[in-house]
Amino acid sequence: MSKKVLIIGAGGVGNVVAHKCAMNTVAFSDVMLASRNENKCKAIAADVKHATGRTIRTAAIDADDVKATVALIKSFGADLLINVALPYQDLPLMDACLHAGIHYIDTANYEPPHLAKFEYSWQWAYRERFEKAGLMALLGSGFDPGVTNVFCAYAQKHLFDTIDEWKETEPLDPKLRIDYNYPVIGPKPSYLLFHEELESLAKNIKGLKRIRFFMTFSDNYLNHLRVLQNVGMTRIDPVEFQGHSIVPIQFLKALLPDPASLGPRTKGKTCIGCEITGTKNGKPRKVFIYNVCDHQECYAEVKSQAISYTTGVPAAIGGAMLATGKWLKPGVWNMEECDPDPFMEELNKCGLPWHIQELPA
Ligand code: NDP
Repeated sequence: MSKKVLIIGAGGVGNVVAHKCAMNTVAFSDVMLASRNENKCKAIAADVKHATGRTIRTAAIDADDVKATVALIKSFGADLLINVALPYQDLPLMDACLHAGIHYIDTANYEPPHLAKFEYSWQWAYRERFEKAGLMALLGSGFDPGVTNVFCAYAQKHLFDTIDEWKETEPLDPKLRIDYNYPVIGPKPSYLLFHEELESLAKNIKGLKRIRFFMTFSDNYLNHLRVLQNVGMTRIDPVEFQGHSIVPIQFLKALLPDPASLGPRTKGKTCIGCEITGTKNGKPRKVFIYNVCDHQECYAEVKSQAISYTTGVPAAIGGAMLATGKWLKPGVWNMEECDPDPFMEELNKCGLPWHIQELPA
């Protein structure tokens, strides 16, 4: 039986999730999009109607207000909630789901607003409460984390007997830079950094010896970031300015273009994948499992560039995995703890086809 889904957050990712949930009439009988500003939800709902013919409902909500969220969940009759607001809203929204008795999905792990730090401990601490309530919280159902975790689980299930090392493709010390040759895209400077899925994969992938995460940045981007950091514009603590208290990074966000507005002029492709080495049937093996996504094709389909698309599609698939019962189990789970097969099948159907490249081992 299809379910009612409540999506929280009407940003770039929320736009994609709303489109993809509306397209999935098997999993979702009814879709509501709620965010701080209902006008943004209404604009997305109009695009969804135009693209899919389906009407989705909208509402205004402050997701930090647990009581108000519980009331919204109940009035809509939601069965599950997809959180694509900001990582700061993870805990209030998990609380609201527990109070209202519905399932929870997100794409990024909790970050306390006044601490530049993210880790799963805060959300893993909800495990017993979700278990006891017979509810599921699925953490990190974006691309990275998300699909990268599913790629790892798929590799462990089907491609390898033992796994030595993961390198996830996608700080900034030139000594930690490699020029990785990505399929379709070609060589790009890639920097070693910490990313949240390393925490759960190191725990959940059996026999893993080494795991690393790389992300590409252009020299131009890094120069801008260094200058902003040097002058204090990336600070998260409040500073006094002309009698007002302002947080520099929030001020910077207000000046920068809304990411959703970049869609029409973003060109090129993303390539995100996992390079894995290990053994199969006693022989060394090395593979790269990946997806390539084209910004303009994404925009033509759902009016979003590929960054939002590669996050929103897996969030909607994660929702469908719960709605259709394929992944449903009480507790708090990371993606690699669920069977990768039905999710991998949906990726191919929903716009994120994946490929496996055999590399010299
Ligand atoms: P945006 O900033 O574009 O959108 C966030 C939306 O949430 C905005 O509409 C914002 O409202 C709304 N919002 C913020 N605070 C609240 C609140 N208290 N109550 C209700 N709504 C609120 O971000 P993105 O769409 O780019 O990203 C969404 C999420 O996806 C983030 O958590 C991000 O970390 C995650 N992400 C995950 C990736 C992955 O691969 N796993 C990759 C990329 C992103 P307003 O419009 O008023 O500002």
